Amino acid sequence: KTVFVSGASGFIAKHLIKSLLSSRNYKVIGSIRTKEKAEKLHLLFKNDPNLIFSVVSDISNPNAFDESFQKHGVQIDYVLHTASPLFFTVKESCEKEILVPAVNGVKSILHAIQLYGPNVKKIVLTSSSAALAQAKDDATPGLTINEASWNAITWEEAKKNPYYAYYGSKTYGEKYFWEFINKHKSRFAGTAICPSYVWGPQTFEQDIKSTLNSSCQVINEVLHTKPGSIVDNDYCGSCIHIDDVVKAHIKCLEDDNLAYERLFLENGRFTLQSIANQINEDFPNLKGRIAKYIQGIDEEKFKTMATLDNRKTRELLGFQFKSFKECIDDTVSQILKVEGGL
Ligand code: NDP
Repeated sequence: KTVFVSGASGFIAKHLIKSLLSSRNYKVIGSIRTKEKAEKLHLLFKNDPNLIFSVVSDISNPNAFDESFQKHGVQIDYVLHTASPLFFTVKESCEKEILVPAVNGVKSILHAIQLYGPNVKKIVLTSSSAALAQAKDDATPGLTINEASWNAITWEEAKKNPYYAYYGSKTYGEKYFWEFINKHKSRFAGTAICPSYVWGPQTFEQDIKSTLNSSCQVINEVLHTKPGSIVDNDYCGSCIHIDDVVKAHIKCLEDDNLAYERLFLENGRFTLQSIANQINEDFPNLKGRIAKYIQGIDEEKFKTMATLDNRKTRELLGFQFKSFKECIDDTVSQILKVEGGL
């Protein structure tokens, strides 16, 4: 079977590609912004003959995926759409740089599938917990966030800053996805995967740079705090290990029971203090060299937050998620190994 993976250069996509190829059940066509990036990735994937790339330079373009699907569409059985802006530095316009590419990315890949993908059976959208709730919902004790929750952010609000824009981009992208899937139910099965912060190692050690992909950068920054400093305990979220995100995506291709579901992937809350504490505990040689260990204040913070309930997702997936400790340890050990600190 052949899987089209959009955004092949991304943190999650590279893991997906590695796993698809190593299972030996799949061929992969990855969309990527430039030829140069494709060449670099070919090297990292050791020129695997089951992997090819197709250049899609900007998903803001309403017909971004047409050419790629005109060329390869007939071969494609499954689509994993991961490409979407996940950064918070905007030059001029949140709408132009975050909202439009995310939503047009979803629209253009679905239209290309419809026109040029006669054999596509399943489409999986990498959405986000950002499509379930926004920061103010998450900070509402008594509120439960689950697979049925929707972020109520308006397009106007989403234009205000890059964080709101990210929330809006995932919400409006996923809304369009369901509109399309519901309209074309007889032709395509669809699943939306909504992870919270995705952590864990990079696919390749070469991907360890001073700044990592947005989610792993959160851990990287705590790891590089000044000795004895204090981190922001108000920075709060929930997390999931990259291995579980990969397993969930691939299970969507293989298990018909996951069709038309929204999967909420998270396995526990954290604040930056939880990260600092876990690093202090698990990497004793860093004690005194990074931010302080402070017990319990993260748990106090969690009490002021909404309840996260993903029992439905856990039941549907049927496997145990990796722990917060594994998320931190796996991310940190790889960084330290590459930086020569372990
Ligand atoms: P990355 O930033 O590592 O990957 C994003 C990918 O999208 C890159 O390949 C990037 O290409 C591509 N992309 C972004 N903007 C454009 C554009 N305008 N045109 C073409 N391609 C574009 O992020 P992740 O791998 O972490 O995220 C992948 C998906 O998972 C996203 O949809 C994200 O919203 C979702 N997600 C991620 C979470 C996380 O914690 N990591 C949590 C929840 C959801 P390039 O690098 O060349 O710019």
